[in-house]
This record gives sequence, structure tokens and C-alpha cells, in this order.
Amino acid sequence: MSSIKAPRGVRDILPGESWKWEHVFSVTRKVAGDFDYREVHLPVFEHTELFSRGVGETTDVVEKEMYTFEDRSGRSLTLRPELSASMVRSYLENRMDKQHQPAKLWSAGPMFRYERPQKGRYRQFWQIDFEAIGSQDPLLDVESIELSLELFRRLGLSNLEVLVNSVGCPACRPVHRKALQDFLRPRLKELCESCRGRFDRNPLRILDCKNPTCQALTEDAPSTISCLCDECAVHFDAVRKGLAMIGASFEVDNRLVRGLDYYTKTAYEVLSGELGAQNAVCGGGRYDNLAESIGGPHTPGMGFAAGAERIVLTMEEQGCSFGEPPRCDIFVVHADDSSLEAAVSALYDIRRAGIAADMDYTGRTLRARFKTAGASGAAFACVLGPEEIASGKVTLKDLRSGEQQAVERAKLVDFLKTAL
Ligand code: ATP
Ligand code: MG
Repeated sequence: MSSIKAPRGVRDILPGESWKWEHVFSVTRKVAGDFDYREVHLPVFEHTELFSRGVGETTDVVEKEMYTFEDRSGRSLTLRPELSASMVRSYLENRMDKQHQPAKLWSAGPMFRYERPQKGRYRQFWQIDFEAIGSQDPLLDVESIELSLELFRRLGLSNLEVLVNSVGCPACRPVHRKALQDFLRPRLKELCESCRGRFDRNPLRILDCKNPTCQALTEDAPSTISCLCDECAVHFDAVRKGLAMIGASFEVDNRLVRGLDYYTKTAYEVLSGELGAQNAVCGGGRYDNLAESIGGPHTPGMGFAAGAERIVLTMEEQGCSFGEPPRCDIFVVHADDSSLEAAVSALYDIRRAGIAADMDYTGRTLRARFKTAGASGAAFACVLGPEEIASGKVTLKDLRSGEQQAVERAKLVDFLKTAL
């Protein structure tokens, strides 16, 4: 046993679980295709400025949660805490603005945030991320929300709550900021220490505080919706109408502001009751100013990220199906040393035909080899001994019923193809 353990807050996804993830990703891939999104693979680390400027200097993610390091040349790099900023960086850098608009992209992979580890909250976790960059059509907001819901529906999740809000834009945000500060000023002393710090720097974030006292104190705080400019109000109306049009059920949540600064207009979250404080399975919204904040031209965008660990956990708790775990179909067993070569040759013939097959690499006795065959979950053991070899046959033993039959060695693969 190794004395070196994995760092706190990371987890190994072992075979007993990884097949469930494969199911989640294969459903995701199908939904992505159905909504015409294309997969991209982006780097796990980026220049630190991408996140400090893109996500926002005063967000929890940038202030407290980033894994930032200097590489050997002294550059400051950061393990990505989220994907939208990288997606927009890639869109700009690869001149996707010259292609068909919007660019509809998706990706899945590990993100890194220095958080207090809990169930459903890790320091390395996976996100499934969808972004549509290059259009401000409110129907794209509808598409993004419905895409996440369709994904969750196909995964079999129930009891989901969809919360939608509009957080406005740089034109209406100062109005709300002032209204919120006026409301909070008399209550300032009662807020938690972090929120007192947020009062001047980023008061909107106080609405996102998970501290129950802060939540109670801000219950009647002025909503962002009440301060929207005409353009944002028209947009929000169109999003609500669009959602109603396709029969998507949602609730407007005036307090929803989300953890990242780049959101403009639509912000939304999908919650699952099963996860306690880690109840958000997915969060997203519109980010029309993200491209400019990282030095690009004005480029609107809309997207969401869903947490893969939280999806799998919720599916397990709700008893959702992950399909069948993969198994080996045939276990090849040689009866004695003299039949090993014939057994290995049969094993590779079976594998080359695309049938899952394995053999025992540990047992020294025939009994031990049969034991491994039984434990493998294989449907059949394919037994080769001196008698089989002499008669040009193999013995196929059904490992469930125990029934045996002789099959011609030359016809083994064809037989298995029909029998399985
Ligand atoms: P939370 O409010 O739970 O901290 P967040 O608003 O920080 O979530 P986002 O930045 O919107 O989360 O990320 C999108 C999704 O990624 C979340 O809805 C969640 O499912 C998942 N997620 C975020 N942080 C973690 C984490 N530390 N561990 C596991 N999943 C996470
Ligand atoms: Mg968070």
C-alpha cells in the first residue's frame, strides 16, 4: 500500500463508478448533437489574467478559490476554475467570429477550485459545459436552458427546480447597486464578515451568500428585475415567453445572481433537492461583456455548466438507470499447461472479432482459473484441454446455468456472435 494519499478534495473515479460517467457523457454527446453543438477540448491551464479579468477580481472564485502557480519561465498560470472564459478565449483566438454564428460549442473535463470539500463539492470536479457565442438572440437563452433540462430528463432526473433571473447589464446595474446599498446600509453590521467586505466592492454578491443570517436579511432586498433598463426588460420578457412557448417549467427567482461577475441579462440555475447545500446541478446565463473584459471585441454569449459529480450523485439517490455495466463475455480457460497456447490463440481470435474476452493471469490450478472465470461475470467459459484440442473443438460452459456444449474450434467466433 502506498503511503502517499491523494490531496484533500480530489477523488478517484474507479471502474465501479466510471461506467456510470460513461453513460452520462454518452447521453450528453447525443443531446449535444440534437441541439447542434460541437465538442472542443481546451487546455486545463490558462494565463491567470483570463480568469481574473474574465470571471471578475471580486468573485469568490478569483479571490479565494484559484489554483495559481508560476511555471518555470515565471509566468502566472491558473488551473481553470470554469470553462466559459476559456471558451470565449478560444473563440476569439481561433477567429470563430468568421464562421457561422453563433459558434455552438461544448466540452467536458476537470475544473479546479480551492473550496472546503463536502459531499458534492470537491477541489477537482468535472463540468459539462455548453456555450453559444456570437448572438444575443433571447431564443438562445431559451435553447441553453432547455438543453440542460433535456439532458437531465434523458438522464432520468426528477424533482428539478429551474430558477431564472435577469441580472441586467452595465447600464442598469449601477441603479440596482445603489438601491441595494441603500437597502443594506442600515443592516450592514448584522451581515457576515465576507458580506461586509462585499458591500463596497461587489454588493450584488451579498445576495448569493450561503450564510442563513445574510439570506434572511436580504430577503426583501430590491430585485435586479425592478431596476432593468428597457433593453434588458425586453430581453427578459422574450426569454420568459420563449420558455413558456416550449412548455419549459421555471420559476423567476429575484435573488439569483450567480457566482461569476460576467453574467449579463439572463442568469439561471437548476437545483436538485437531493444535494443539500450543494443543490445546484447546473448554472448558466448570458455573458455579453465577457469577450470585451478579456480584451476582445464585443461578443455576446450564452451558456451553462453542469457538475458531473452532482449529476451522478443525484442519479444514484433517485435510483436512475445508468444502463448496464460493461462486462467480459467470454472467459477462456486452459485445462493444463499443454493447452495454454491453444487457449491464448482462441482468446485473441475472440477479441479480434470484437467480443469481450479475458483469461486468468493468477491462478495456478484449474480450480482457481474456474473460480476467476465465475467471478468475472462472463456469460461463458471457453475451455480448452487436450481432449478438445485433439477433436478440434472447445467446450463452452454457460456460467449461469452450468450447461456445457462442444463447439467446433473453427466455428467458435461465428457461434459466439449469434449466441451472445
Ligand atoms: P455553488 O453555488 O454550489 O458553489 P457555483 O455557483 O460556484 O456552485 P458554477 O460556477 O455555476 O457553480 O458551476 C456550475 C456547476 O458546477 C454547479 O452548478 C455545480 O453543479 C458544479 N460545481 C461547482 N463547484 C463545484 C465543486 N467545487 N465541486 C463539484 N461541483 C461543483
Ligand atoms: Mg461555488
